[in-house]
Amino acid sequence: MEFKKNDEIIIQIDDIGNNGEGIGHIDGYTLFVKGGLPGEKVLVHLMKLNKNYGFAKLVEVLEESKDRIKPACPEADRCGGCNIFHLSYEGQLAYKEKKVRDCLERIGGLNLDEIDFRPIIGMEKNEEGNVFYYRNKAQFPIRKNENNEIVAGFFADRSHRIIPVKDCKIQHKDINKVLDIFLNYMEEKNLSAYDEKSNKGLVRHLYIRRGYYSKQIMVCLVINEKKFPNPDDLVEYLKKEEKKLDGEITSICINVNREKTNVILGKETYFIYGNEYIEDSMFDLKFRISPHSFYQVNPKQTLKLYKTAIDFADLKGDENVWDLYCGIGTISLCAAKALDKGGKVYGVEIVPEAIENAKLNAKLNNISNAVFECGKAEEVAKRLEEDQKENVDVIIVDPPRKGCDILLLDTIEKMNPKKIVYVSCNPATLARDIKILSEKGFKTEKVQPCDMFGFVGHVETCCLLRRKDVNKSSYVSLDVKMEDYYRIKDAEADKKNDSTN
Ligand code: SAH
Repeated sequence: MEFKKNDEIIIQIDDIGNNGEGIGHIDGYTLFVKGGLPGEKVLVHLMKLNKNYGFAKLVEVLEESKDRIKPACPEADRCGGCNIFHLSYEGQLAYKEKKVRDCLERIGGLNLDEIDFRPIIGMEKNEEGNVFYYRNKAQFPIRKNENNEIVAGFFADRSHRIIPVKDCKIQHKDINKVLDIFLNYMEEKNLSAYDEKSNKGLVRHLYIRRGYYSKQIMVCLVINEKKFPNPDDLVEYLKKEEKKLDGEITSICINVNREKTNVILGKETYFIYGNEYIEDSMFDLKFRISPHSFYQVNPKQTLKLYKTAIDFADLKGDENVWDLYCGIGTISLCAAKALDKGGKVYGVEIVPEAIENAKLNAKLNNISNAVFECGKAEEVAKRLEEDQKENVDVIIVDPPRKGCDILLLDTIEKMNPKKIVYVSCNPATLARDIKILSEKGFKTEKVQPCDMFGFVGHVETCCLLRRKDVNKSSYVSLDVKMEDYYRIKDAEADKKNDSTN
């Protein structure tokens, strides 16, 4: 290595990493450069050098990529929330699609020429002609800065320094407004902000969720005390200011988190106004969502993702379906509706509140062929497999970023479903699991990437895997003997001759 920390060098960026950072190579050494784009020649300042890779700060772009744009957010360079704001939206889509391809080829060992790999589904422009303000959920940390002022926004990259953000370009505008209203309240009432070093101060986070279709808003205040001092006053203030919003605040709660931890929500939540949930709808289904339950963050893209998952499952109506990692039962209930000839869904999810939501959501929509159980997918599935009461035709999985547990993949092999629909928010673990499932006898047939997280490097993918030994009408399986094959072909030819004669 002929360079050292604090040197300034010129390199070529040739790839983008998992967190949207540019990647360049010099004499076989890998450098991560935040803000660099493939095809660019950049001047960088070397910051931290490990044995095989290091980090460098972008000083100047000497040759620009055609995909570089001026970020619409003034904080884009400093804020750790979004990491590819300097890349055009078309460029983002191309990068994400390539990321899925690369993972599936390199980690998954797939030959994509043999697979129905579909172009990524991008976001459509909103009424303002852009793809901003799509998120329905934010968790803003609230702290004091070095000048003793209260600040809220997002943490800077790999740090706990807050970058104050007033008009976050990816959050729904109501969410930004609620934050602003609450900060005014904090100032007026002289409420203290949490201090991580001393573990003192009252307000840690403001967590806001907004139903896209219902416009119902939940405001959840995460505090470092057992009780919020004046809940009625807070309720009155928020409801009075509600007229600034397009939606309606229908739920206000306090979450208690007194631990010295990076985990945002504590275990205890109590409600000081309205419902213990917000309601939202998708397709013709209604859903209740509690603060601890997972709910997809990009409502319009969620419809496209779920539609793909249900299309891939191609349900005839009488199947037994498992929906593992089911959250509040969104995919489960979409599937249950398609199972109109006696089929049923078994949903499994680890968060108790989410399962409570799922059970209620089934009732709310008059769906009686969906059953839910709280537990780890890998453990519940294993028990169901050992009970061997029935077969499962289709298994849908939608795990968190770390992917499926190996125990679950073993159980899937034993259950031997006809199809697996794998919904994933991390192409690397998706590809790893696909490789394992391929060795267990499942062939990946269809892949659909979908952009749920504009301006952020993450990408969602939906895949259809099919059991290899299932005969399909469109091709002759290797299990069919050649004489049978010719007999079928002759019969087909005879039939054709008959009809043409
Ligand atoms: N399919 C749902 C949820 C997907 S997110 C939707 O589209 O809304 C992944 C879900 O898996 C989360 O709800 C999370 O709580 C849950 N989860 C995480 N680990 C789990 C495990 N080991 N077993 C079951 N559920 C798990």
